[in-house]
Amino acid sequence: MIKQLVAAQNDFFATQNTKDVAFRKKYLKKLQQEILDQEDAICDALYADFKKPKFESLATETQLVLAELKHAIKNVKNWSEPNSVGASLLNFPSKEWIQPEPYGKVLIVSPWNYPFMLTISPLIGALAAGNTAILKPSEFSPNTSKIISQIIRKVFPPEYVTVVEGGVEASTELLAEKWEYIFFTGSTRVGKIIYQKAAEHLTPVTLELSGKNPCIVDKTASISLAAKRIAWGKLINAGQTCIAPDYVLVHKSVKTALVEGIQECISQFYGENVEASNDFARITTSKHYEELKAMLKDQNLLFGGNYTDKDQYLEPTLVNEPKLDSTVMQGEVFGPILPIISYEDENELDGYISRYPNSLAFYVFSNNKRFQKRMMTKYSFGGGTINDTVVHISNKELPFGGVGQSGIGGYHGKHSFDLFSHQKSIVKRGTWIDIPLRYAPYNISLKLIRKIKYLF
Ligand code: NAD
Repeated sequence: MIKQLVAAQNDFFATQNTKDVAFRKKYLKKLQQEILDQEDAICDALYADFKKPKFESLATETQLVLAELKHAIKNVKNWSEPNSVGASLLNFPSKEWIQPEPYGKVLIVSPWNYPFMLTISPLIGALAAGNTAILKPSEFSPNTSKIISQIIRKVFPPEYVTVVEGGVEASTELLAEKWEYIFFTGSTRVGKIIYQKAAEHLTPVTLELSGKNPCIVDKTASISLAAKRIAWGKLINAGQTCIAPDYVLVHKSVKTALVEGIQECISQFYGENVEASNDFARITTSKHYEELKAMLKDQNLLFGGNYTDKDQYLEPTLVNEPKLDSTVMQGEVFGPILPIISYEDENELDGYISRYPNSLAFYVFSNNKRFQKRMMTKYSFGGGTINDTVVHISNKELPFGGVGQSGIGGYHGKHSFDLFSHQKSIVKRGTWIDIPLRYAPYNISLKLIRKIKYLF
């Protein structure tokens, strides 16, 4: 069945229909309308998958996607135009331009943590750029995968866009095919598998991966605001956010104030009994839930630590000065657990941050401009925010993605269009004159040929 879908998409791409910008726009609009019609049903599916609060489903899934769609519909014509560049004197007479071109079939493989947004957002870029697509959403958010499948079936013919539901097996079968582009969001471990598979066909990839995101709070920071913004960024989606702050490095002199501030915010956000709040999600997969619980063993907790196995509820938890060889400080913490580590001298920070490969996100809370700049420039990471968390994802002008171990490529807004387009370079020569210098026999002086660089 996958082979047939792939063959049908190859044939459809060959018709050249997707090269027509009006065609792309028509389908982006249809998708927009269907998402608007199904917005409540999408939120219900997210709730069924992990009790995602409706506010969060609207704010971080459907509305983000609708904003991307609106922007793409408005700009796709402009983005698709050839971009003229200055002509080279060497080619005189000529016109020269870059023509953005679709690659062909795109495979989009997505995770369960923002299961709607992380499947549809890359699709928008792929379609705006004129590609066809097959989507493979996560098996761990089955209700959302199902509604994605229904929406796509209603809007698109399968030879243009289709969904393949399933887990590793489905993904592996898809990866055995030849793709013109693969867009993967998920763990660094699986990202490496995708990259290897893609290499067999020299398929270009975007890998949106993970990392251990530091959050530094120095003694000049506005502490109560830092506490609020850290608590929000850590606890939205119950901490299952690839760019959530992973661990806090706080100056010793402000640690108590920060911890008390975060505790207060947790109570303000969710009440005294977080489990009873409708505004706090659950851990989606049992595997991650068990891993998170294991991280709490033998830790000194400043707050939280309770859990309920029945619906995989894990209380927001602050871990006090964990040992660096404990599990909570080994890999990514993908849940509402926040390790708090104090430092006395700025020079100690490097010993923590440099232990881990390039993070996906990086946060600094400080009112000291020198310190802000030093932190933001010293380390290699995907993207970051000064004096807040997570919000750098919200500006479509900023490419979103990782670097090194946290990923390859960045998307959103026009960056998505560019990512899914091959930049084809074209030179159109005039025919009314043909300067003979380049042709043999080479009678031109070698001294003159050395001046060629000045003509570029
Ligand atoms: P995952 O890597 O386990 O799975 C992602 C997708 O890959 C799923 O569709 C899954 O079916 C598929 N998959 C799993 N194993 C595979 C294999 N062996 N071969 C082929 N395909 C396979 O990730 P997850 O657990 O669904 O998501 C959580 C991870 O994703 C976290 O590490 C998080 O940081 C990361 N993430 C990154 C971003 C980002 O934008 N950079 C966003 C969200 C999540």
